[in-house]
Amino acid sequence: MGSFNDIIVIGGGIVGLAVARRLLQIRPECRLLLLEKEGGLATHQTGHNSGVIHAGLYYRPGSRKAVLCTRGREALYAYLAEREIPHRPCGKLVVATDETQVERLRSLRQRGMDNGLDGLEWLDGEATKRYEPSAEAVAALFVPQTGVVDFRRVALAFADDVRDGGGIIRVAHRVRAVERCGDGFRLETSGGTVTGRAVINCGGLQSDRIARLCGVDPGLRIIPFRGEYYRLRPTGERLVHNLIYPVPDPAMPFLGVHFTRGVDGTVEAGPNAVLAWRREGYSRWACSPRDLWDTLRYPGFWRLARREWRSGLREFRRAWSRSLFLGDLQRLVPGLRDEDLGAWGCGVRAQAVDGAGRLLDDFAIVSGDGMLHVLNAPSPAATASLAIGEELAQMAVEQFGL
Ligand SMILES: Cc1cc2nc3c(=O)[nH]c(=O)nc-3n(C[C@H](O)[C@H](O)[C@H](O)COP(=O)(O)OP(=O)(O)OC[C@H]3O[C@@H](n4cnc5c(N)ncnc54)[C@H](O)[C@@H]3O)c2cc1C
Repeated sequence: MGSFNDIIVIGGGIVGLAVARRLLQIRPECRLLLLEKEGGLATHQTGHNSGVIHAGLYYRPGSRKAVLCTRGREALYAYLAEREIPHRPCGKLVVATDETQVERLRSLRQRGMDNGLDGLEWLDGEATKRYEPSAEAVAALFVPQTGVVDFRRVALAFADDVRDGGGIIRVAHRVRAVERCGDGFRLETSGGTVTGRAVINCGGLQSDRIARLCGVDPGLRIIPFRGEYYRLRPTGERLVHNLIYPVPDPAMPFLGVHFTRGVDGTVEAGPNAVLAWRREGYSRWACSPRDLWDTLRYPGFWRLARREWRSGLREFRRAWSRSLFLGDLQRLVPGLRDEDLGAWGCGVRAQAVDGAGRLLDDFAIVSGDGMLHVLNAPSPAATASLAIGEELAQMAVEQFGL
């Protein structure tokens, strides 16, 4: 069974690794075990995202997302420099493509300023061309704090920190059952039984299920939303210098399909946000009867569907129609052609939905007796990971008396 641990972290994505490394920094004597069900680390959301270091433009001032994104971004840039991890603080352009979007763009600028972003630059259509000659805009906002990085690489650097700090990481250890024993927990995993005093659940797309395994009713359900991309061929890459985003729909937590030049120089177009039939499936056909059933029998899903069926249907049609996808991209960059769209890929977002059918906007952390559960950590949680790790580690120290 192995030795008794002070802390067991479930989940080897960027959030679990960030909290583990931070705990070992502030409590170096702590016996920490991190369990990951896959054969390697960072294989789900952390390894399937846009790689954007978000500035903190979109989030409600004072919310966890706003505060932790800003703090996490600053800490991340410092970490990347210190560890010499390739990244590019290139800034991004948010583009209003018709007059009806200009007011929303102004509100976004105000929100960015409320969130402490300096140096936001308002551009008219002509000035936009200085940054992105192929973009079509009536107005645009340049956000200098945005950048790009490979978050998988960041997560693997966090894993090195965990090991250097004396923590133990076990891959191929799927947590299947959790029960209380004495003043701690016994976890049955696919790699054997482990015990510990406290548990931190950072299970991403499975976090609601893990909470239930721990006897906690999370009061929400993870609904998976696939985010699909096309990689641009070199003919299309020439049309995009850095990052070009639309003005987002304020009712939705998703940002709209956009262009991202990654740290490796390639350009991705997407992601959309379409209901997925499998939580950890990376093809259009991926379907898990269990995952689908979990979505369909959740009343919150039907309340969401009743309210948002039009946008849901539109996303669904666009997911299956390359020309609709292309049409939305052409609103930002009219010169893009069908033959510029190359390979298809996707990620799946863990988006929590409550019983009333609301998409949870903010990060959600629920604490129980000897437990912490991270139940909603979608974008910008990768950007914010160092700050989330700091907050969770502090909560663990206070609540578990470490
Ligand atoms: C399409 C897309 C684009 C995105 N773009 C951005 C972006 O540009 N910038 C940004 O900041 N964020 C972005 N995000 C969000 C970001 O990727 C996530 O917020 C972040 O990776 C969440 O990390 P995590 O550790 O919580 O989850 P994950 O990386 O999913 O890790 C959870 C881990 O838990 C493990 N696990 C689950 N169940 C068990 C179990 N029973 N036992 C053991 N282990 C288990 C899983 O295998 C997994 O490795 C994007 C996400 C997607 C999907």
